[in-house]
Amino acid sequence: MLNRRTFHSGLGATMLSAGIAKPSFAKSEYYGPNVVIIRFGGGVRRQETIIPKDSFAPKLINVLAQRGVLYKDMRIEKLDGLNTSHAEGTLNILTGRYMAYRDVGQGFLADRLVPTEPTLFEYFRAHFDVPPHEVLLINGEDRPQEEFFTYGLHRHYGVGFRSEMLSLHRFKLYKNTKILADQSQTDAVHSAAQTEYDKLLAADVRATSPKQSGPISDFWRKWRAHYGDDGLRNPRGDRLLTELTIRAMAELRPRLMMVNYQDPDYVHWGNASHYTRAISIIDEGLAQIVDFADHDPFYRDNTIFVVVPDCGRDANMLVDLPYQHHFNSRSAHEIWALVFGAGIGKNRVIDAPVDQSAIAKSIAALMGFTADRAEGDILPGLA
Ligand SMILES: [Zn+2]
Repeated sequence: MLNRRTFHSGLGATMLSAGIAKPSFAKSEYYGPNVVIIRFGGGVRRQETIIPKDSFAPKLINVLAQRGVLYKDMRIEKLDGLNTSHAEGTLNILTGRYMAYRDVGQGFLADRLVPTEPTLFEYFRAHFDVPPHEVLLINGEDRPQEEFFTYGLHRHYGVGFRSEMLSLHRFKLYKNTKILADQSQTDAVHSAAQTEYDKLLAADVRATSPKQSGPISDFWRKWRAHYGDDGLRNPRGDRLLTELTIRAMAELRPRLMMVNYQDPDYVHWGNASHYTRAISIIDEGLAQIVDFADHDPFYRDNTIFVVVPDCGRDANMLVDLPYQHHFNSRSAHEIWALVFGAGIGKNRVIDAPVDQSAIAKSIAALMGFTADRAEGDILPGLA
């Protein structure tokens, strides 16, 4: 049992009294640090990530860990009915609560978790005058269910405070809208575009999906001019997420962003090398994103990175399908977090157990707002 209520930190108060960012009832301009949340996702174990001798993420554990605070014993609390999986873990991070979601899916759209509590995106945009394209979710291609993470059902927040989202799914919606509006195309091209468009919308049950804001449409216009329509030239899988993230930072200047890496999860269908190779690709992508931030005047010295897995994986290698995460095993609850950047302590390792639900309140404190409905405590030893 974690004694998480005993942790206290004056970080939030310190930052407020230092005048870094003063929340008020009238929305004020945001002058605080940028925050990039990297979901080291698709479920990873400590063993292959933060244990140096076995790690497939050398940049994470040998280089970036020295720049910040490593929480070696972050856990997902054991609660009745809690599933250690991707959507669930992501929403633990974004809402600062466990099981703050409802499954709105049915039939072939099953497993659609919608947050029932406000997300960090909503808290942030409720406090500060920040347009939706500066609050970004970067998602994988084949997970339209993560569309739901842009806002929740809480009645004081919701769609008016949502984040924007970048994914190949979103690009294809944009692309097909453009093809359908292009009078120079043949009937056959229009008909194919309509079919694909309808399919995309059917996988995406929120009616707001196609309405992307002007800056986002502009982002896709440039993406399309660069990579074309065939989908063969742009990177795929988690490398695509890295590319989307760096382009988004250059063009849209997001203040709060979450990057949902996911490919270690391919181990469900294959052998262990899919898992370890995917960890290396995320490690590489993380290093590239940090390098971009280090050399960009908008992000340099003014950005905090929060790297955290959505969930762990099973440690029992004797079963038929090793590396699963749905069986409530201890190691599926065992994760970690690395926080580094502006104002964060350096080269520090925290051994004490902390909770995944602490991340939302910690980010809120760092950015100068409160996440009232979040339950976790602020992470100890951050500043
Ligand atoms: Zn999985």
